[in-house]
Formats: sequence, C-alpha cells, structure tokens
Amino acid sequence: MKKYKYNYLLVGGGLFNAIFAYKATQNNKKCLVVEKRSHLGGNVYCQTIEGINVHKYGAHIFHTKDKFVWEFMQTLCQFNHYINSPLAKYQDKIYNLPFNMNTFYQLWGVKTPKEAMHKIESQQIEINNPSNLEEQALSLVGYDIYEKLIKGYTEKQWGTEASKLPAFIINRIPLRFTFNNNYFEDPYQGIPIGGYTPIIEKCFAHSDILLNTNFTEDRSLKDLAKTTIYTGMIDEYYSYKYGALEYRSLKFEERVLDTENFQGNAVVNYTEQNVPHTRILEHKHFEFGTQPKTVISIEYPCKWDKKSEPYYPINTQHNNLLYAKYKELATKEDNIYFAGRLGTYQYNDMDKTVHDALKLYETLNQ
Ligand code: FAD
Repeated sequence: MKKYKYNYLLVGGGLFNAIFAYKATQNNKKCLVVEKRSHLGGNVYCQTIEGINVHKYGAHIFHTKDKFVWEFMQTLCQFNHYINSPLAKYQDKIYNLPFNMNTFYQLWGVKTPKEAMHKIESQQIEINNPSNLEEQALSLVGYDIYEKLIKGYTEKQWGTEASKLPAFIINRIPLRFTFNNNYFEDPYQGIPIGGYTPIIEKCFAHSDILLNTNFTEDRSLKDLAKTTIYTGMIDEYYSYKYGALEYRSLKFEERVLDTENFQGNAVVNYTEQNVPHTRILEHKHFEFGTQPKTVISIEYPCKWDKKSEPYYPINTQHNNLLYAKYKELATKEDNIYFAGRLGTYQYNDMDKTVHDALKLYETLNQ
C-alpha cells in the first residue's frame, strides 16, 4: 500500500481549509496547504496598516444564527460587539440601512410605522409577474426607495441596467418598521478582536505551508497526500473544458489618510449611478479604533476575467447548468473533494463556510 507524507493536501489557504486543517491537525493528521497568493486567509485576510486591521478583500462581518458555529468560533478568537449598520449616501444626503424607520423618516419625514406603511403603499406600483429587477423593486418598495437607494447601487454592482437584470436577484426587500439599524437579523454578530488573520494563523499553525504555489501549475502535489480538499475554482481544475463559470470582480483603492476619522462609520454605500464606486470602508471602525490615522478602501465593482479575482458567482441559469456539469465530473473523482466558495460555485457567508468545513472533516473521519 502506498505511503503518503500527508493525510490531506489542502488546495487554498482560505477560511474553509483553515477550519478543516484546525480539526485535522488537532487529531494528529498531517496537512500540506498550497496557496497561490503570498499570504494565507483567502478573502478574510487582514493586513495591519497604521495599527489598523485592514480587510484587504472587502468588509467581513461575522454573523450567524448557528449557535454551534458561534460557540466553535469562540474557541478560536474573541469577538467584539460590532453591529453592522451601514449608511447609504445619495447626492448630498445620508440614509440609514437596512430600510427601517430611520430611513423612512430621512426619506419622507414620517414618524410612525403607520405613516411609513401608508407612504410605501402609495408608492408601490402594481405589476403582475415582474419580469426584471426594476419592476420587482418598484412593485415591492415603490419609486423613492428604488431610485435613491437600490437602482444605482445594483446597476454598478452587476454592471447592467436594472431593467435587464433578472427579477429573482431581489426576491424580497426587507422593510423594518422599527428604528433599528442593525443590518443583520442573526442573534450572534461581531468582528474578531485583532482581525481574522490571527484565527487563520492559529488554524494552520501545525500544517506545512507552500505559499505562492498554484496547484494547477503543479498537479503532482496531489501525490503527496491520500486525500485532497480543493477550494480553488472547479472549472479551472478541469481546465475550463465546458467553458468558464462567470464571476463579478471588485477592485479596492486603499488610502492611508492623515486624519483620525474620515466618515464616522465602517461602511458607507454610494447609491448614485454617476459615482463610480459602490462603497467606502473605513477599517478602524470595525474595531472601534482610536489610531491617529485612518485607512479607507474605495470599492469598485468590475468585470471578471481569468486574471482578476473571482468575487461573486453570477448564478444565472447558464452558469448553474455549467456548474452542474463540472460537479458531475467531480462526483466521479476518488479522494478529492471540491469545497469552499470557489469549489462549489456559490456565495457562502463565513458561518456557512465554517459549518461546511467542520461537516466535511466529520464525514471523512467517521
Ligand atoms: P477563499 O477565501 O476564496 O479561499 C480560497 C483560497 O484558495 C484563496 O486564498 C485562493 O487564493 C486559493 N486558491 C484558489 N485557487 C488556487 C490554486 N489553484 N492553487 C492554490 N491556491 C488557490 N462572509 C460573511 O460571513 N460576512 C461578510 O461580511 C462577508 N463579506 C464578504 C465580502 C466579499 C467582498 C466577499 C467576496 C465575501 C464575503 N464574505 C462574507 C464571504 C467570505 O469571504 C467567505 O465565506 C470565505 O472567505 C470563504 O472561504 P473559502 O476558503 O471558501 O474561500
């Protein structure tokens, strides 16, 4: 019987494989991590700049309904009490998000839930079977909210006019009739004190690591381990033989500013069409920082190509069918498991990523 140096080859050093490696190495299994970037952590990676933990690949707020995942995470880090309360800027006005009584007051001066409901009802446009996102939004929330807070942001996000986007993208638009700016409805929420990088370092502490190493350029690495957990893009693994799955990408323009407080909030969305960016993040506010300087990231959505970062899968029918074909190939493989957001071609929040990694480890070690 062939003797392997490692129990697991972990392709990708993101959150999924970090959690998997943590469990595996706790149980004396040997792991080799292969990561094409120059650092571990995948998209949750934080870099410390001016004493501030900068979320290099976009704002990451941990939130979950899953008590088991929350309790598991407490064994890895301590969370602060950050509550995500983004703002929206449209022209010269600021609005609270998610849409709640504060937003309705800012839009129309209404002060009671009853007044707000009447106002929204008077704005909603009756459209039977909305055929695109614009019609869907107008039928759900009416003109003012759509025009000021949804249209421009969504069009920038997807790079397409709202009237050409499918209606299913916004199946429902939650409207909250309380003065509550907490974006998430989950009972558990926070930011790890010190950022996400220490969690990743803790998880991979007992694994061997190869950075700047692209698995697709050296597939013989697979021979080093009995089992491979692959969290790269599934279509890339199969050399795009059925075609490439599509993504939306992002670019971040990072600036260190010689000011203590730039925008007074971690996240401000820019909902106007003629402002090219969708968001500005001011990282210190994720951890209530008091450093003398501040770091901001200006976020621009952009087209994806094979040279750019794949951020959001575009789950159109065409792409989902394509993914199903790759998945079919994957099920025929021995000793390789496709996992994480790129391996399964889906957007997963961190809690789902942690849950799935724990589950896969358990399944493979029953
Ligand atoms: P990744 O983090 O993408 O890790 C995969 C790793 O594999 C990467 O490091 C990549 O470089 C590497 N890799 C790929 N191919 C190869 C290869 N061929 N060889 C070697 N290495 C390879 N979740 C939340 O819960 N809250 C949030 O606020 C939140 N915000 C987000 C904001 C953005 C912009 C995005 C895109 C996601 C956000 N998420 C959020 C989701 C969160 O980022 C994911 O749940 C998590 O990062 C998924 O981890 P992963 O390991 O599956 O993937």
